[in-house]
Amino acid sequence: MISFFPFLSMIIIPVLPFLACAQNQPNFTLQRQRMVEQQIKARGVHNTEVLDAMLKVPRHRFVPESYRARSYDDNPLPIGEGQTISQPYIVAFMTEALEVNKSDRILEIGTGSGYQAAVLAELAAEVYTIELITELGERAIQILNDLNYKNIHVKIGDGFKGWPEEAPFDAVIITAAPEEIPSVLVEQLKDGGRMIVPVGPVGGVQNLILGKKKAGRLETRDVLPVRFVPMVRGKE
Ligand code: SAH
Repeated sequence: MISFFPFLSMIIIPVLPFLACAQNQPNFTLQRQRMVEQQIKARGVHNTEVLDAMLKVPRHRFVPESYRARSYDDNPLPIGEGQTISQPYIVAFMTEALEVNKSDRILEIGTGSGYQAAVLAELAAEVYTIELITELGERAIQILNDLNYKNIHVKIGDGFKGWPEEAPFDAVIITAAPEEIPSVLVEQLKDGGRMIVPVGPVGGVQNLILGKKKAGRLETRDVLPVRFVPMVRGKE
């Protein structure tokens, strides 16, 4: 028995630093499970595909280093340039409201960190997303590449113009608040398509509006009061 000891310690001692290191890492998988249970399911989002996508996408990879430990908190977080990554519940709520099908091609305005685009890319065929601020768009491209998303296409430009070359879309999601629904984006939506957009004045109360396009017209209803950063017009 005793003669085995030196060999055993040779095996165990080199592993100890790795074990210690692993313990210092926050358990993001567990945090994500709690986020889904306590913030999302508890508030009434039940679509299993949406919940699975929220469980899968590593939100902490989209959050800047300095806020990483708070990635799964129940609130939005700064991502630089005065912009924010939305609260997890709002991302899940908007995604569920869009009734995404596997074959859908979706347009998102306001890439920001790229997180909402990644969640949509788990559910849809292709996601086209537009970001006005170059630094944010480039950072999102980098993160989405690192995570190996092949079905997300990021364009740096003004979302008020949409993406005419790729239109029409099955669904449109806007994650910055315009003062009214941009008609160009309604034009780029297929008949029968869904649109979700926070509408309201800068700094004031906004309403999340859910629309369905029927016979060329968007039929809308208010679904939730929210607060988003404003959708800003790009310089010509
Ligand atoms: N969906 C993002 C959060 C978006 S924050 C995420 O998951 O992280 C809103 C974003 O909309 C900001 O990055 C802002 O720069 C962008 N934005 C504002 N006006 C825009 C416009 N006209 N076109 C494209 N992006 C715009």
